[in-house]
Amino acid sequence: MDMFKKIPVGEQDAKVRATNFEEVCTGYTDEEAALEATRCLNCKNARCIKGCPVSIDIPAFIQQIIAKDIEKAAEVIAESSCLPAVCGRVCPQENQCEGLCVRGIKGEAVSIGKLERYVADWAREHGITPKLTAEKNGQKVAVIGSGPAGLACAGDLAKLGYEVTIYEALHEPGGVLIYGIPEFRLPKEKVVKPEIENVTKLGVKIETNVIIGKTFTIDQLFEEGFDAVFIGSGAGLPMFMGIPGENANGVFSANEYLTRSNLMKAFRNDYYTPIFRGKKVCVVGGGNVAMDAARTALRLGAETHIIYRRSEAELPARVEEVHHAKEEGIIFDLLTNPKEIIEDEKGWVKGIKVVKMELGEPDASGRRRPVEIPGSEFVIDCDTVIMSLGTSPNPLISSTTEGLDINKWKCIVAEEDNGQTSRDGVFAGGDAVTGAATVILAMGAGRAGAKGIDEYLSAKRA
Ligand code: FAD
Ligand code: SF4
Repeated sequence: MDMFKKIPVGEQDAKVRATNFEEVCTGYTDEEAALEATRCLNCKNARCIKGCPVSIDIPAFIQQIIAKDIEKAAEVIAESSCLPAVCGRVCPQENQCEGLCVRGIKGEAVSIGKLERYVADWAREHGITPKLTAEKNGQKVAVIGSGPAGLACAGDLAKLGYEVTIYEALHEPGGVLIYGIPEFRLPKEKVVKPEIENVTKLGVKIETNVIIGKTFTIDQLFEEGFDAVFIGSGAGLPMFMGIPGENANGVFSANEYLTRSNLMKAFRNDYYTPIFRGKKVCVVGGGNVAMDAARTALRLGAETHIIYRRSEAELPARVEEVHHAKEEGIIFDLLTNPKEIIEDEKGWVKGIKVVKMELGEPDASGRRRPVEIPGSEFVIDCDTVIMSLGTSPNPLISSTTEGLDINKWKCIVAEEDNGQTSRDGVFAGGDAVTGAATVILAMGAGRAGAKGIDEYLSAKRA
């Protein structure tokens, strides 16, 4: 065994998986996990923990894998995270725990994410569920949104003895985990639903099909007897480019396209949800969402292009996702920017006019600014365009809640360490506050919000 390299993890062959929605990564076997765990140096000053937004005691759970006590390993993780099988699959570990692992200085970091996934999958398969800890304290908290921020906040509060109800606008809980991230990266029945059930086993109630700001307002939640409110409503409002032709038939936002496929199961033949199965699809954007939309379109049978205005080095998507997308046959048209969507006489997309770009001086984001090369326009024939340019928070809650400050990006203003907003008793965290970010940052914010609410309500009890 080469101690400088990760034990490779099993994956479906690229050609086979490009035609199905089964999970790409098959995870470590017992033997592989045990071997990978021995690469951990059990550092005294474990840098990996500092890289984890929910501060999982990483060396402690890895030592339990070495000791072959996987149940204990799962307990260590459960102290900090209620969604380990999710995070083990989708966290950008290369920028977080693994990015700081000392093994990474001279070789490859310990495969912390894959080990977390291994432990979480083992716990689920062996029926291990979280244990209730505190007596009920009689105080009630409403949580808006059932994504990672809301679930983490609700789980922590339930463990502290609060009566927690999550209100979710959609008919299924889970936020982006259910409607956004595709099945081939994050299986819903096998992984997401059991982890949400673990949160409800702590006593958290989830009411779906309730839109706060429409069905009830935050003021009405207080009138109903809730003592505090946490807003974890995410950032689900898609952005568009504002170029000619964007209203043509066959142009979708990535959110709509992925929701049809993931939440409404359009990829399955036994569901009636319609989805446009294009022959040639252009996805505009370079983030994780763009990769997910492109890989979904590919699996639905299309030749699929990613159109991105900067170069490969600036692609914001995770390296693993770009690598997988390329292996599966996605075509990357880099340093290319859309100018216009071209329609046929019936208003359907028939192509996209683009222009070649080059990189100029760095802009405010520190990345080199893409600049158009004059006269380099050309048309890519296609029948579908999926816009994946980012999302922002829906203003419904802020516009129906008196005294709730938002910033110029329509994000709710909240303290980082406790989620406190400008409105007394109202806390917030996750994408609703930061704009589109990551699962684990949303969970970290949910946990911070729970701590803030506990401090606020404990003071009221005293
Ligand atoms: P969300 O997950 O958006 O959940 C918010 C919930 O609130 C939703 O269920 C919504 O329906 C509900 N809601 C909204 N308004 C209301 C209302 N008025 N009343 C009631 N309920 C409401 N992150 C990663 O770490 N790794 C990845 O690989 C990754 N891939 C991604 C792929 C896609 C396609 C997308 C869209 C995002 C991805 N992300 C990824 C980002 C990550 O999923 C989000 O940052 C994270 O889910 C944010 O969590 P949240 O709880 O703040 O919000
Ligand atoms: Fe183990 Fe790496 Fe964390 Fe050190 S930094 S404890 S080697 S995972």
